[in-house]
Amino acid sequence: MIQNFINGEWKPAAAGDTIDKINPMNGEVQYQIPDSKAVDVVLAVQAATKAFPAWSALSAQDRAKYLNRIADRIEQRLEEFALAETEDVGKPLELSKTLDIPRAISNFRFFASRLLHHEEASSEVDGKFLNYTIRQPVGVAALISPWNLPLYLLTWKIAPALAMGNTVVCKPSELTPKTAFLLSEVMNEVELPKGVCNIVFGTGPDAGQALVEHPGVPLISFTGGTATGEKISKSAAPFFKKLSLELGGKNSAIILKDADLKRAVLGTVRSSFLNQGEICLCTSRILVQEDIYQQFISEFTREVDELIVGDPMQVGTFMGPLVSKPHFEKVQKALNQALEEKGKLVAGAKGDNELKEKFKGGFFMRPKVIADLTNCSDLHQTEIFGPVVTVQTFKYPADAVKLANTTPYGLCATLWTQDLSKAHKLSQNLQVGTVWVNTWLQRDLRMPFGGQKASGLGREGGEHSFDFFSEQKTVCLQI
Ligand code: NDP
Repeated sequence: MIQNFINGEWKPAAAGDTIDKINPMNGEVQYQIPDSKAVDVVLAVQAATKAFPAWSALSAQDRAKYLNRIADRIEQRLEEFALAETEDVGKPLELSKTLDIPRAISNFRFFASRLLHHEEASSEVDGKFLNYTIRQPVGVAALISPWNLPLYLLTWKIAPALAMGNTVVCKPSELTPKTAFLLSEVMNEVELPKGVCNIVFGTGPDAGQALVEHPGVPLISFTGGTATGEKISKSAAPFFKKLSLELGGKNSAIILKDADLKRAVLGTVRSSFLNQGEICLCTSRILVQEDIYQQFISEFTREVDELIVGDPMQVGTFMGPLVSKPHFEKVQKALNQALEEKGKLVAGAKGDNELKEKFKGGFFMRPKVIADLTNCSDLHQTEIFGPVVTVQTFKYPADAVKLANTTPYGLCATLWTQDLSKAHKLSQNLQVGTVWVNTWLQRDLRMPFGGQKASGLGREGGEHSFDFFSEQKTVCLQI
């Protein structure tokens, strides 16, 4: 039974209400989680507030030790964490074992090490004045995370927040709570002081909103959809809370005629459909230079039709079910709309009925590739967050940049070309937070990560996370 983790203890929601967690494999109830309300959030914030003075006063070495112990313990329980992530989300077990859980471990180790190597700036003015900076924790941090990379994204917030001396209240997605619950066990196993990390389970509108609005929470790190980000911004504005928003995307892969075609095809299959296409960084628009369009499309669709969709526990499965029924229906609706707008399904037309038959009640869908839509089609402009990509052609590289920049989003883009000076120029003109050239999802945790436009506000990663999770103060001394 999943329970809230408040002040080092597990407890149900105060009112005793629960939410059914649904299995994406078959639509059946898996288990229950607390349906927490404002009263539960208040208890969690109280615990975090009480723990703050002692935690923030610990030396950097001691805080780093705790982070490393947490990483070690997750590593020892990796198989268990990976299984839980797969059962909750539906993603292939292999992916949970090689991407999600290892990255959660790295998040703790990276920020532990970063903390110990951290330096502050100082400057002297004409031998008369000395300026130096002090960095201090902010207080209780609200950490709100989505369902697609549950532990990976939650620990990306917890690790730097704790490293900087804050205490935290986490609100993971109600759809995928299991690894956050296992993490609460780890927190006690490593004897993290009570109240330093608290986890409240429940819905966004209830538990999430109460956390955002709590006057005792001065900073919020949120990863999720753009519409929710907008709502949180409005709620936080009257309190002038520190806010970091990692939001949705509509990411283009741009394939130039000089690309290594084989690499571009395989790389784009992966960037489009890894994790069922449910990664904010997944490619959802493929822009191909017209000279190589026919060749690209025939190789790409052949590869896509060969992807194995099915039981996520089996080795070799590339895609499992989508996370939930409402999400499956949202993706299906976008697909139907594309077909109504005369989009042509060039891959993924067959196989869905067999999946429906084999996995009764599950949310399975074969990957879809759609061509021939006009640029203003909704499918080219709004986020789908599932295994659906569109393909378009362009004549000159500058046209591709224009097409990529027309969406309201600006999270990332992928370029496939062997001409590095062209890659450099196009990268400068793309309105996104990250450009990958001849690769995708390669993350260096020292680099700034975030989005432009409707994809978010602020940057996290390395020093940027420390900047967000601390207050910097300048002290100026007359010498
Ligand atoms: P949502 O925005 O629906 O939810 C994200 C989190 O916010 C969940 O924990 C949710 O709770 C909570 N929430 C919902 N409403 C509120 C509220 N009013 N106040 C406080 N919290 C609230 O996103 P999804 O979970 O559907 O995740 C998918 C989205 O996340 C996609 O748009 C994707 O692009 C984006 N994303 C962005 C990333 C980035 O780094 N830029 C990375 C990964 C995903 P609950 O689920 O319980 O309702």
